[in-house]
Amino acid sequence: MSALPDPTVTNREHELLASVPDGLFIDGCWRRATGGVTMTVSDPATGEPVKEVANASPEDGLAALDAASEAFPAWAARPARQRAEILRRAFDLLQERKEDFALLLTIEMGKPLPEARNEVDYGAEFLRWFSEEAVRIQGRYGENPEGTGRVIVSQHPVGPCFLITPWNFPLAMATRKIAPALAAGCTVVIKPAELTPLTMLAFAQLLQDAGVPGGVVNVITTSMSGDVSEPIIRDPRLRKLSFTGSTRVGQRLLRQAAHGVLRTSMELGGNAPFVVFDDADLDKAVEGAIAAKFRNTGQACTAANRFIVQRSLADEFAERATDRVSGLRLGRGTEEGVAIGPLINEAAVTKADRLVQDAVARGAFVTTGGRRAGERRGAFYEPTVVKDVQPGSEILHEEIFGPVLAIIPFDDEQDAVRIANDTDYGLVSYVYTENLARGQRMIERLQTGMMGLNTGVVSNAAAPFGGWKRSGLGREGGAEGIHEYLQTKYTLAPRS
Ligand code: NAP
Repeated sequence: MSALPDPTVTNREHELLASVPDGLFIDGCWRRATGGVTMTVSDPATGEPVKEVANASPEDGLAALDAASEAFPAWAARPARQRAEILRRAFDLLQERKEDFALLLTIEMGKPLPEARNEVDYGAEFLRWFSEEAVRIQGRYGENPEGTGRVIVSQHPVGPCFLITPWNFPLAMATRKIAPALAAGCTVVIKPAELTPLTMLAFAQLLQDAGVPGGVVNVITTSMSGDVSEPIIRDPRLRKLSFTGSTRVGQRLLRQAAHGVLRTSMELGGNAPFVVFDDADLDKAVEGAIAAKFRNTGQACTAANRFIVQRSLADEFAERATDRVSGLRLGRGTEEGVAIGPLINEAAVTKADRLVQDAVARGAFVTTGGRRAGERRGAFYEPTVVKDVQPGSEILHEEIFGPVLAIIPFDDEQDAVRIANDTDYGLVSYVYTENLARGQRMIERLQTGMMGLNTGVVSNAAAPFGGWKRSGLGREGGAEGIHEYLQTKYTLAPRS
């Protein structure tokens, strides 16, 4: 591991970072990348390097697929109860190591420590949930309509899987894929984002400690994601690609996956509307807005992007939101009371600022924030409220991925539905109304894979997470999640 020059890093952080493996995890062993090449991981709150880790080549990627392919038959043949017990042990270990994982998330990704703890809880829940689902994989046994034969429907693991995860939830996005894959009897190669590999490396160690056999989970960290991924995706041994990230990269990977007619799951971008009707409980709506917008400093696919507020209420909503937002403390996620951490890098700060400036140039007003937090090192942008955003503003059509709450007024329910659905995305929508009939109409009319009705947080391991339109394909979590890693076979047998 490299030296740690940053004085803001405490002894505990030094020890934790030193304990995280820095190699590739292939076939149950830690190894260097080909040629000993490494890459640097930095703390986005300071911009300082914190650790060097292995930087995999395309050959290393294929070695990981070799291991996953060889381990597959034995893992698929393990009784479901044994797979479930290993996942349950992993859940228990993650609970035990919660503080370490939370701190690691904060160091490499920047989120405030309380939010990092929430991510560990959320991520752990997928291990518990799919340890319970593993033993409930069911088929069907029936009779054909002619009465001449039996139809036997059975489920089988799809085979070796390639999992690609983003930097914004380095643990939860990984467990949401690994847990159902292992529960179903699949083996995996996982590639975390270049910016946040440490959590996954520590998690690989945890899975080994929980009893996951060599080759069942393989981790490759790399700065050459395209070059390393494509040969894996094009290899005929691979049977499934599961990706979480941007729609742009998802589209590219779908083209590659078409070659081998791979099963794919795609958890892609969003542009979530947050609709507040004049019959809403305004206190709850403002609190929901803060949760839906500022969690992870706005860097969540589920982050509310457009606050569509009934005109009669828009000024009051903006005033109350401004009050709350101007009180949010910004800083390194390890500091006490911090609610807004850094963005992941400078490019993210530039993007948030560009979107705010464009909205202002088109007639919107900034009521708080609206600029870089220049007095700090690291990638900080002030938590911001922009009101009276005009149609055509870029902020309405791009995923902001930053701490900017943009308010657009609407006149009636039809108008609200039209604005909310005016996007190529359809991941999640939020609606605040105390009118039950209206709430039910919105469930019917919004084009969205998930909906928060009077709540600003929708994620739950027991629910099928996923989007409509360009927000993706497939579902993660819930009873549906394991089926992404299973394939169906039916057998027709004549009645004797
Ligand atoms: P991204 O640029 O698409 O990257 C996501 C992952 O794909 C990273 O591991 C990245 O690796 C890898 N990648 C990039 N180019 C690749 C290529 N050519 N071949 C193979 N892998 C490649 O997205 P991001 O900026 O990290 O994440 C933010 C996006 O993720 C947002 O759009 C957000 O909405 C979406 N997201 C969606 C969900 C959901 O569940 N729907 C959840 C979280 C995030 P490197 O970073 O190392 O290049």
